[in-house]
Amino acid sequence: MAAESRVDTRCGHVFENGKRCEQEGNPCYLGGSYEEPDEYFCGKHQFEQGYCPGCGLFYGGIESFEFSDHHLCDNCESEIQVELEREDALMDETYATYPFDCEDDWTREALGTDVC
Ligand SMILES: [Zn+2]
Ligand SMILES: [Zn+2]
Repeated sequence: MAAESRVDTRCGHVFENGKRCEQEGNPCYLGGSYEEPDEYFCGKHQFEQGYCPGCGLFYGGIESFEFSDHHLCDNCESEIQVELEREDALMDETYATYPFDCEDDWTREALGTDVC
């Protein structure tokens, strides 16, 4: 069994007590290219180490990444925004299919027959 062919994909984060994070890691790329992963970190530690949990690329020290709403790089962040907008549009469509004013009409009619 050649040890070199076995890639250790566990999260490389080591806690203060010396224990290693047990989570399965995602490939992380330091150089900005997807050729060989430099390290592996789980979603949580990926961000702590400066890697975008969305794409695995290194964005450490970049303000727009470190203070982003979803802890994602600009690219992944804008993808999520598109996704959220799509969901909003879907909700609008759903509401359009079931107009709630129907109920109002029904209530008014029912009350109308009872008045006086
Ligand atoms: Zn971890
Ligand atoms: Zn990203």
